[in-house]
Amino acid sequence: MVSYEVSRKRWQESSKYLAGGVASSLRSSMKPLPIFVESAAGSRVRDVDGNEYIDYLLAYGPLILGHAHPVLTEKLHQAMQRGFTYGLQHDGEIELARKLTEILPCAEQVAFSGSGTEAVMLALRLSRAFTGKKKVVRFHGHFHGWSDSIFTAFPSGDLSAAAAAGGGVPPGTAGQSELALEDIILLPWNDEAVLEETLRTRGGEIAAVITEPVMCNNGCIVPKRGYLERMRELTRENGVVLIFDEVITGFRLGLGGAQERFGVIPDLMTMGKAMAGGIAMSAVAGKQEIMGLIAEGKVNHLGTLNGNRIATTAALATIGELEAGGGEAFARMERLASSLAQGLRELLAKHGIPGLVNRIGPVFHMMLINRPEVTTFREFSERDAAKYALFAERMLAEGVLVRPSGLWYVSTAHTDADADETLAAADRVLASLK
Ligand code: PMP
Repeated sequence: MVSYEVSRKRWQESSKYLAGGVASSLRSSMKPLPIFVESAAGSRVRDVDGNEYIDYLLAYGPLILGHAHPVLTEKLHQAMQRGFTYGLQHDGEIELARKLTEILPCAEQVAFSGSGTEAVMLALRLSRAFTGKKKVVRFHGHFHGWSDSIFTAFPSGDLSAAAAAGGGVPPGTAGQSELALEDIILLPWNDEAVLEETLRTRGGEIAAVITEPVMCNNGCIVPKRGYLERMRELTRENGVVLIFDEVITGFRLGLGGAQERFGVIPDLMTMGKAMAGGIAMSAVAGKQEIMGLIAEGKVNHLGTLNGNRIATTAALATIGELEAGGGEAFARMERLASSLAQGLRELLAKHGIPGLVNRIGPVFHMMLINRPEVTTFREFSERDAAKYALFAERMLAEGVLVRPSGLWYVSTAHTDADADETLAAADRVLASLK
């Protein structure tokens, strides 16, 4: 029997001093308990009880090169000798900003911040300042960070719970400003007609449409054919800024992100997570005429640690590793994710457990659901989340770390042997779930 006794003791201790016992609320949902890490390298994590796991959580996305990648680690060591952060300018900022304008299709200029949440806040502010309008369209089932201006709950698969509350947008948390929620228009995603109707009738008050270009946070659902293109047309026609939140898809679906993959170019984008391979860094990028509001002094963009030496070094090293070999890293991650996803589908079938794996590039969502396909949040909400959480818990005991909600990430550090070991574990766990 696998033991988590040391983790359990640490959690009790942690809970005395750290609010909630974890540093980000989501982490407390891990079963049988939030585990404590001793160390991590490559595709593997070792916990304080000495258990080792193949890691598909990857810190909720950032670790595209795996843990403690040797080149990234070496470059960070070197950079640290020159000081960590200055509150002054340095060449690393220029080099990274220039590089991003070269690789991100929408990027004429960029701005740096520390987290995805902050980048989204800036993108929304720029959109309001640029259009002189207030409202923001966002989609049910997407996640854009935890700021008051955009956080919402998803109490039901459709929008009926929101409608029952008088059409109001359900807050993501207690303590959230009701005024901020009034500026949000919450729509179902992948529904062209609803978007068209909303932009045609209310375009005069809408500053921005913000979307995950792939609904990674809930189901890894890809846009229906023509949907993003139509979103692009409708936002343009109605003077609305189109923001792609590429905090997950940025550097994951290729260096140019989802916009490059789908060939639809937004006005603004946000990125974070994989951008600096596990060091805190995020960015907003986009059109000069919008980003230029910062230079004009109309939009304030602040942050003590923005663009620090550690973050820019990590981002440049991450880009360097992903670019090396002409994109071979992406092809390898995609091939591995594809064989894992296919292997999991076959195992679900073998054990007669209804389920689906939605994959794009090196990211996929495994869900236990009795449907031939899942293309909307409403459909996704029919999954058996509790049974999947049990699957995740048993996978942990088998030495495989997966997110309890179903999203898997693959890094450049994962190997074919990791995939084989993972599928063997999944075979045993699915057999136990029948
Ligand atoms: N946008 C998206 C699409 C995300 O997935 C996340 C984080 N899961 C965020 C924004 C917020 O990023 P952060 O946690 O770095 O604030």
